[in-house]
Amino acid sequence: MNVLVINAGSSSLKYQLYEMSTERVLAKGLVERIGMDSSILTHEVEGQPEVREVSEILEHTTAVRKVLDMLTHRKFGVIDSVDEIQAVGHRVVHGGETFRESVLIDANVKLEIRKLFDLAPLHNPAHMMGIVAVETNLPDVPQAVVFDTAFHQTMPPTSYLYAIPMVLYRKHKIRRYGFHGTSHDYVSQTAAEFLGRPLESLKMVSCHIGNGASCTAILHGKSYDTSMGMTPLEGLMMGTRSGDLDPAVVPFTINKEDLTLNEVNSMLNKHSGLLAVSGVSSDMREVVQAMNEGNESARLAFEMYAYRIRKYIGAYAAAMNGLDVIVFTAGIGENSDLLRKKVCEGLTFLGLELDEERNQARSKQTRRITTDSSKVDVLVVPTNEELLIARDTYRLVQKAAMAKSETPS
Ligand code: AMP
Repeated sequence: MNVLVINAGSSSLKYQLYEMSTERVLAKGLVERIGMDSSILTHEVEGQPEVREVSEILEHTTAVRKVLDMLTHRKFGVIDSVDEIQAVGHRVVHGGETFRESVLIDANVKLEIRKLFDLAPLHNPAHMMGIVAVETNLPDVPQAVVFDTAFHQTMPPTSYLYAIPMVLYRKHKIRRYGFHGTSHDYVSQTAAEFLGRPLESLKMVSCHIGNGASCTAILHGKSYDTSMGMTPLEGLMMGTRSGDLDPAVVPFTINKEDLTLNEVNSMLNKHSGLLAVSGVSSDMREVVQAMNEGNESARLAFEMYAYRIRKYIGAYAAAMNGLDVIVFTAGIGENSDLLRKKVCEGLTFLGLELDEERNQARSKQTRRITTDSSKVDVLVVPTNEELLIARDTYRLVQKAAMAKSETPS
């Protein structure tokens, strides 16, 4: 079975086509600048040169049609006809309290996703455009949605509630939802497999450290607490996001700087974090380079960034009354041995012993970076959210087909 994975943004659409018996990516690509005068489709097939096509793509339905044309292209395609796509899986950022797991799309699911637009105004409407665009192009193909928040729906109220008037939770569902759930889910499963231990037996902290960053306490395979909150602004310091701060900073800044609420919101989301403190960049590679060249602001930014990750790991070890495994993943977590070293430096009180050589080794594989005698295993696990979306979609479609075949006619 072939499963097409779609991640639709407001002006972009990423895709990967999986062959599920081998879990091989047949082709992947990206449509950028949807709605602008020159849109770009980039298409990649392993072992072949990348294809780039510039055209006018005004909305998502045309973008999906262009992707399907490319996948079935005589020269650059990997399938003969769209009939060879048996299911489509979509990434959806916010599933609110409604969705605790991935689901097949029907009219009711679409209605519920629409009701959640308020909670993720930048993301969910764009995902819906992707869903409708696929429906228009492939009306008979089943579609599934995989939510970034679903993995965290196992958190207890002690973790997900804010200490504010409960009427705000009851009326508006103001609470912690958490994000990067697909990634935390994938790397925790992969880590347990790598260690050859049942996930249900482990106390784990998974650190998804990329442009956006979050830590999750995973107790016996389930999300117990996570650092992002009602929105992806809370928690760790990130590329351009502030992470945790005293909420009183917001009205204080509005008054002192004569800014609007929207301007402060934009400051906290787009002009804070690594970028603001280093004054150099939101990109960790550039911050590290500046630090190595003696830039003291870059050093401070790097140290604050690592310190906050360490604080969350410590807090979650206390929350779970112990810690067996720490996982690092995503752009920075997978690639920066310097950051991993800085975070782990202050965790020796847990019996954690980093192995310098293992930490510095370059690899795209899951690996252990602690010594054999370390009491806490630290792993680097390359994340693969698309594969998890493809797997969930495949499982749901198979299950529906089985249920149909068992229904007496
Ligand atoms: P992501 O959002 O997961 O794509 O991660 C993006 C971040 O990963 C950016 O801040 C990059 O600078 C960072 N990154 C990628 N490669 C490296 C590297 N070799 N060392 C440090 N940071 C890296």
